[in-house]
Amino acid sequence: MDGYKTGMRYSKTLIPTVKEVPAEAEIPSHRLMIRAGYIRKLASGTYTYLPLGWRSLRKIMQIVREEMDAAGALEISMPILQPIELWQRTGREAAYGPTMCKFEDRHGRINALAPTAEEVVTAVAAQELKSYKQLPVNLYQINTKFRDEFRPRFGVLRSREFLMKDAYSFHADPQSLETEYRRMYDAYCRIFKRCGIPYVAVEAETGEMGGSGSHQFTVPCETGEDVIVYTADGSYAANIEKAAVDPLPRATPPADAPAPEPVHTPGVGSIEAVCAFLKTSPTEMIKTLIYSTTDGKVVACLLRGDHELNPEKLVQALGSGAELAAADVIERVSGASVGFAGPLGLSERVDRVLIDHAVAALPIAVTGANRTDYHTRNVVPGRDFALEGPSVTVTDIRNAVEGDTYGGQTLLFKRGIEVGQVFKLGTKYSKALDAAVLDEQGQPVTLLMGCYGIGINRILASAIEVGNDKDGCVLPPAIAPYEIEVIPLGDTGDVPATAERIYEALRARGADVLLDDRDARPGVKFKDADLIGIPLRVVVGEKSLKDGKVEVKRRTDAQPTLLPLDEAVEQVMAILAEMKTA
Ligand code: ATP
Ligand code: MG
Repeated sequence: MDGYKTGMRYSKTLIPTVKEVPAEAEIPSHRLMIRAGYIRKLASGTYTYLPLGWRSLRKIMQIVREEMDAAGALEISMPILQPIELWQRTGREAAYGPTMCKFEDRHGRINALAPTAEEVVTAVAAQELKSYKQLPVNLYQINTKFRDEFRPRFGVLRSREFLMKDAYSFHADPQSLETEYRRMYDAYCRIFKRCGIPYVAVEAETGEMGGSGSHQFTVPCETGEDVIVYTADGSYAANIEKAAVDPLPRATPPADAPAPEPVHTPGVGSIEAVCAFLKTSPTEMIKTLIYSTTDGKVVACLLRGDHELNPEKLVQALGSGAELAAADVIERVSGASVGFAGPLGLSERVDRVLIDHAVAALPIAVTGANRTDYHTRNVVPGRDFALEGPSVTVTDIRNAVEGDTYGGQTLLFKRGIEVGQVFKLGTKYSKALDAAVLDEQGQPVTLLMGCYGIGINRILASAIEVGNDKDGCVLPPAIAPYEIEVIPLGDTGDVPATAERIYEALRARGADVLLDDRDARPGVKFKDADLIGIPLRVVVGEKSLKDGKVEVKRRTDAQPTLLPLDEAVEQVMAILAEMKTA
């Protein structure tokens, strides 16, 4: 950080540490970023970064820039104001829906506040790229993005305004996209490693972004909102939105099973209630969910009672978007009030039936009866409703659960925070926005694209989420607001002058140092140093100075070490270097 390692005196900066945090701060990183004076809330999902928080963000951005530049990407800066027409041309105005912040300008034109920039960058490419000779090219920026999140929470982990590094690559052939995707994947690994945060790369869904392949970079952490599914040998890891499961083997219908029998279940609609009422278990029930697709079709989805529908897999299976049908649609196709739909006779009343493998694996089950206040027991899949047919498909439409396997291996689960994602986009945006170049034969080819995002603020928050203890933040030196804090204890004898000398000497060697020159008790200084998470501290006290020593302590050490004064600066620099490569 050239020109930035200026060092700082505590008395001259603004580090408003506080004891109390608002009740809405549910997770450690949110509480600590407020307590340590990194951030202050302005309104729901918007935060001011105070000097400490901003220093950390600048360091993260610097690492991201260095790695993007080293990978050959070119930094640009695109407008945050985006004309809505671009979003209409790609059909994403609807896909983003209310998450996109929009406003009308004085001339009546609708603008979006950038939630991302595929549209804008593709418009740039359409204008500026003419020939295959200009390819491949990768353009990136680091700037503010806006998303009117349904539920902003966890402080800056899910805010409405945040900093994103977004990069977009353009190619004339799939091989070139593949190579760049790999290069970005590798650059991401270096970025997160240099930031000092633990991460795993997992296969991911492409969601509304579109495209053919994607990986997410996730920081494993209990409080994360994402679920990662993986095998113990590390051969497979995916976001639960994407995670495949081995199909359960089909059941052979029992030859002597009794005929289906309706049972009166008054007012008992939920799976739990039905199970309690009929003394059965969700694993022996079939639930029937009615969906409406974006192209106006009605689809019945059959799942085992304890399983959850996976919306991404549903979209894959259908080849179109879908959402839970409105109550009147459900009532019309099932002939019953919501909660009592079942598979018997249903295939004639809907356009498609998607049956999860686990349903086809049930020998006999309880289902809704398509009659209000009734269920049917002794339903045998394959006997009482079809498992094949022109509109019937048995497929994978559910989330993986504990006990599932993939490739024969047991699936394990852990939570994580998504800090970055890379996508192979293909031609979704370039087609819609007419971005093409001429190839070697002079023929136009639609550009292939990749896109690559990183949440700058999320890196900091997740570093604190995985790095904290009862005393405060425990940050890696690469992204801590300062690397070293020099703490003089009192102002007697040689103490202030020695502390000052060490501070200047460390700065001269390129370290990023905070000098706690406040007229405060030692306990206060130690508490604040721990709270704000400075990785390494040097304490200058009269007692040890008499023996020609100063104290050094890593944030994670239980006890300080005494170093001879005349070697202290060199040794502290050596410890810092070692911490940075650890
Ligand atoms: P999420 O699933 O958490 O909503 P996303 O997949 O929609 O995120 P992307 O469109 O992939 O996010 O954006 C790239 C990166 O921007 C994400 O990996 C994440 O680190 C960051 N990011 C996205 N939304 C937010 C937000 N509301 N607050 C802070 N960072 C965010
Ligand atoms: Mg994402």
